Amino acid sequence: MVLEKRYLKWGNLCGKCNTCHQVDYHKIGEPLPICPSGSRFGYEAYFSSGKMEIVRALAAGEIEEPSERLLHIIYACTVCGGCTMQCKGVTTPGTPEKGIDSVDAFERVRREMVELGWGPLPIHKTIAENIESENNAYGGPKSERVTGLAKDLPEKGKIVYFIGCTSAYRRTELTEATVKILKASGLDVAVMRDEKCCGSPLLRTGQVPQAVELAAHNLNALKAAGAEKVVFSCAGCYRTFMQDYPKLIGEDLNVELVHISDLILDLIKDGKIKPTKEIKKLVTYHDPCHIGRHLCEGLLDKNPQCIYEQPREVIKSIPGLELVEMKRNRENAWCCGSGGGVKSAFPEFAVWTAKERIDEAKETGAEALVTSCPFCVTNLRDGAEGEMDVYDIVELIAESIEE
Ligand code: SF4
Ligand code: SF4
Repeated sequence: MVLEKRYLKWGNLCGKCNTCHQVDYHKIGEPLPICPSGSRFGYEAYFSSGKMEIVRALAAGEIEEPSERLLHIIYACTVCGGCTMQCKGVTTPGTPEKGIDSVDAFERVRREMVELGWGPLPIHKTIAENIESENNAYGGPKSERVTGLAKDLPEKGKIVYFIGCTSAYRRTELTEATVKILKASGLDVAVMRDEKCCGSPLLRTGQVPQAVELAAHNLNALKAAGAEKVVFSCAGCYRTFMQDYPKLIGEDLNVELVHISDLILDLIKDGKIKPTKEIKKLVTYHDPCHIGRHLCEGLLDKNPQCIYEQPREVIKSIPGLELVEMKRNRENAWCCGSGGGVKSAFPEFAVWTAKERIDEAKETGAEALVTSCPFCVTNLRDGAEGEMDVYDIVELIAESIEE
């Protein structure tokens, strides 16, 4: 399929102003970098400004075959949306246009790469095969998706906890903590035994048709389970259901989607859980891109649903925990480095990006870094190399509500 006209328009609209290279100076007061890809590889082509030229050239039919370097530029990008938020503030001279949705453009280019047989990268194909055979991105046995405390939960119910591949196969301690919180709240929560990967690893790397099948499967399974509300502890799954599923199936989902940080805050306000145990620590908070700017008002969604304040409120609700902010926070947050297929294809780049974030966290004087996504936790722990503790908020809440 040829790229739709809007991509040629966006490619032409990019004025190479390079606003997308740095955080919002007016808010942060310092010219700090926002783009892991451009910062790591150092060439214009790796920033959004350069990649928009690739978008333009592809849309104009000027690329006959991709070089190895072109594929590297296209895939060595976490699709974090840091650039999108900066570009949003730019009005292209002579037009009423306000910014370019670069995340949408980069994912469309990756889809085109797959359709032309030029992509994805080999490891992304392996992930697709894992999902095909075992229903999860990591290739773990499908029979082991639901383990531990989650096995005690019923298969059907009005509230369903969607575990996600990373929590199920790599961060089971976060699944345990989440289920502990849900049980303590007294809510009747179910876990589907036929849950499959949400499709995020496929969508972020351009492998769309298989993701459509997963969306259809998961939505049918939720219907069969009687779900009216779905709870997510994975930022990537939540973003995929919120942003991608309605587009993939062409209609609104008739089910309420809730991120765990939102739910925890409500449970605390309603007195259903009480964080009482003191955890004496100075911590800082890392905003996962997928529940932050990917859900923000503007280019990506007309309806602002970004989750910035809820996790911070949850942190502040724990006795003894003190929160200090990193310079780059909320829509100006530096990405953890794992998204967009980068963790699997370019692990060294992913960890470099995480180390940058850990250094920024250390600069605040915090003893630990807290976030709200199992994939961010994994990569940030890799970047911390044991020099700084990295927690998900569910771990801290589960500890604080323990009798
Ligand atoms: S901020 Fe937008 S218009 Fe400016 S260089 Fe970046 S992508 Fe192009
Ligand atoms: S999506 Fe993130 S890594 Fe990719 S070009 Fe934009 S800021 Fe850089």
